[in-house]
Amino acid sequence: MSRLAVVGAGYVGLVTAACMAHLGHEVVALDVDKAKVELLQAGGVPIYEPGLAELIAGARERIDFTTDLNIAYAGAEFIFLCVDTPSTYSGDADLSRIWRALDRLPLDDAERILVTKSTVPVGTGAAVRIELAQRGFTHIHYASNPEFLREGTAIYDFMNADRVVVGSDEPGIAERVAALYRGVDAPMLTTDIASAEMIKYASNAFLATKISFINEIANVCEVTGADVTVVANGMGLDKRIGPHFLQAGIGYGGSCFPKDVSALKQIAGNSGYHFQLLNAVIEVNELQKRKVIGKLKHHLGQELRGMKIALLGLAFKPNTDDIRQASSIVLAERLMAEGARVEGYDPVAMENMQKLLPGFCCTASAASALEGADACVLVTEWQEFLNLDWAAAHGLMARPIVIDGRNALDGAALAALGFTYEGVGRKP
Ligand code: NAD
Repeated sequence: MSRLAVVGAGYVGLVTAACMAHLGHEVVALDVDKAKVELLQAGGVPIYEPGLAELIAGARERIDFTTDLNIAYAGAEFIFLCVDTPSTYSGDADLSRIWRALDRLPLDDAERILVTKSTVPVGTGAAVRIELAQRGFTHIHYASNPEFLREGTAIYDFMNADRVVVGSDEPGIAERVAALYRGVDAPMLTTDIASAEMIKYASNAFLATKISFINEIANVCEVTGADVTVVANGMGLDKRIGPHFLQAGIGYGGSCFPKDVSALKQIAGNSGYHFQLLNAVIEVNELQKRKVIGKLKHHLGQELRGMKIALLGLAFKPNTDDIRQASSIVLAERLMAEGARVEGYDPVAMENMQKLLPGFCCTASAASALEGADACVLVTEWQEFLNLDWAAAHGLMARPIVIDGRNALDGAALAALGFTYEGVGRKP
């Protein structure tokens, strides 16, 4: 068993730390956020991720949390970089946290392997290796180990990954990183660094393309009378297409797809290649988020000023508290700009939403959001909303109008209850 330092205790860092400790490794997670580390040390978990608190508690004797570099790096054979790489204004990946972490590497001459799990542009690993060599850190080897977990099912995804990709340009290094995953049920793929970095971007860009594609099909269904759920089912039965990521909706969000698609477009552009397809993927997604406004106006009239609109769900997907780039944000801001009274409810993401949009009104329950509402929009398909007592909801609303942004509700059942129901690409 090995000793690991995990740099960055966010969604990816905490899941990596917990799963690696679960596999038997000794792990210290390092973060610059003192409050986060103190909470973790006290047994709390700063994010909502099903099963994470239990996994950390179960491996508590092999996992520690610190802000102290000396504690984190003492005896660490592997250093996993799991810091955030958000978008810059230009759409490139912001690597400042990666470089800051490199500036804080231990200065001793112990042999270690630096493993980048953060999503970084192709060429970053090569640049890091040059930097390490220039600093005389020839005892620090380098590997790229992109992460593919999905928030909401992160533990399962880590332990049952479709594949573990490890890229290295030094003999034997990728194999040593891959060996850490013994106990994980996944095919291992060892590659060069640049290809490992590209696999991550290409995968996310492809998935985003699939979503924008089915959303375009949904929009054509709406004007031609076909039903996109039936169409997607028929398409997905074709093994060359597959059923996944063919759910039409109000666009993708989250901390990965928007920034990674944009970063890949920039990576190509900075290298002199115009990645035309990705421009369309991004544009379709932006327009898709806004289409809800047109649907509300269709049912309520052009003037939304003073209308109460309930948003059910704020997180970018169910089972997470993450609202980064969530469709709810665009929707809330657009509706508020129209003068609508917007009230939203989410089982776990309301605190994050209020930090981001302090003026946004969150309610204590779905029922409070629905009370007196002129329309409601299902933004995130939490089970709680699928199980809602919709007959009671009908009694609460001023006008029983449901815009189902995820095609997750039973439209016929709602219509039978007297609702005006509209999904995405489905017959009204
Ligand atoms: P996050 O924002 O949740 O966590 C990043 C953490 O790193 C924060 O706690 C921050 O305080 C800490 N940090 C920043 N600089 C630091 C430094 N110099 N030293 C120590 N700690 C530092 O981010 P995340 O969602 O976990 O994403 C991390 C990376 O993984 C990103 O590159 C992301 O693209 C990639 N990724 C994310 C997901 C996902 O679903 N969230 C999935 C796959 C890949």
